[in-house]
Amino acid sequence: MTRSNFDARPLRPRRLRTAVAALALTGAAIAPATLAAQSHIVIRAGRLLDGKGGVRDTVIVVVDSSRITRITNGNDTSTGPITYDLARFTLMPGMIDTHVHIDSHFGADGRMPDELESQLNRVVAAGQNAEATLRAGFTTVQSIGAPPDIELRYGIAHGDFLGPRVLTSVSQLTDTKMTPDEIRRWVRTMVSRGADVIKIFASKSIRDGGGQTLSDAQIRAACGEAKLAGKRTWVHAHSASAARAAVLAGCTTVAHGSQLTDREFTLMAQHGTYFEPNIGLVSQNYLENKPRYLGIGNFNEEGFAFTEKGIPMKREMFKHALAVRGLKLIMGTDAGAGAHGRSAEEIIYRVQVAGQPAGDAIVDATSHNAMSLGLGERIGALAAGLDADLIAVDGDPLKDVTALRRVVFVMKGGVVYKNVAR
Ligand SMILES: [Zn+2]
Repeated sequence: MTRSNFDARPLRPRRLRTAVAALALTGAAIAPATLAAQSHIVIRAGRLLDGKGGVRDTVIVVVDSSRITRITNGNDTSTGPITYDLARFTLMPGMIDTHVHIDSHFGADGRMPDELESQLNRVVAAGQNAEATLRAGFTTVQSIGAPPDIELRYGIAHGDFLGPRVLTSVSQLTDTKMTPDEIRRWVRTMVSRGADVIKIFASKSIRDGGGQTLSDAQIRAACGEAKLAGKRTWVHAHSASAARAAVLAGCTTVAHGSQLTDREFTLMAQHGTYFEPNIGLVSQNYLENKPRYLGIGNFNEEGFAFTEKGIPMKREMFKHALAVRGLKLIMGTDAGAGAHGRSAEEIIYRVQVAGQPAGDAIVDATSHNAMSLGLGERIGALAAGLDADLIAVDGDPLKDVTALRRVVFVMKGGVVYKNVAR
């Protein structure tokens, strides 16, 4: 998904308050001002997946303010009374999606809005998407990325919107005419605008064939400058040459990769490059919502034919990636309009259709994703000292991965945002 509109005017604080007021008018939920972490919460769970491959039965997790302070066995009475009894459910870390377009939405006419849509509308829509995403058990997302993300990130962090933690690229590098010096300046501008990650478009969209667009030197300039600024880089690359250039330039993550082979995967494993394939939800969603996308940008009949042809190709590519020892696989969906709140479908697809073991797919979507975002010491796992980002699902996702659709409890930073466990 791309969006060339670049309205980067800051919304806060007055415009943000207007956006919040507009949300109230649309009936979307606004975080009550009283949402604050309780001081001592004791959760009992029937099963616990720790996000790193560990499984325990009948456990108690103690949360003090925003952190997990203790994990002990289910009959330990020293923790005090149980606050939430989730004995029938499986507790796991809040899921992470490393690739969403959180502001992408359908307008009042049911179609993708054009470039003239107001920033206010976009922030309101982003708020609604964020809430759907959080309720689906995703406590952190990386938005790849648009200017309204800045307001959303601020609004969520300050309790104005309900949503996951948001990291954003704010914008993206697509201009192939820029010199390496201009690219380095652009990277510094993005950092000063608040980008958590730098997004580079190194190849065409799969709907346009996926060939390399930025030169190797341009990719080196972008990833090199980001590294100097202490930022990660996220590279959209379908073709083998674009991916190779990104890996050799020391970029952090290569995404999509529909045309990659064992050679590129092995190179990534050698260089420690994260690989984020998007093999399920994004194509499913485009095809399900085809009439709402058709006629906008490269969403034409030819492009849709490419999307359909790409489905088995991406599945085979993913099977090859699974077989490469040491490849750092992560989980991102590329969720745009129509797909928000359904990010777990990517994990389910990886398991049911592409044959990844459920335990591995869950580790990818939790601790591996956290590491790829540079947050491995804070989130993505259940252990004492980590942030209390945890969810409960109805069923055991190791046996039936569709349990990830049945999220009954969501806690982020020690605050409960959803509890329908009974
Ligand atoms: Zn995308």
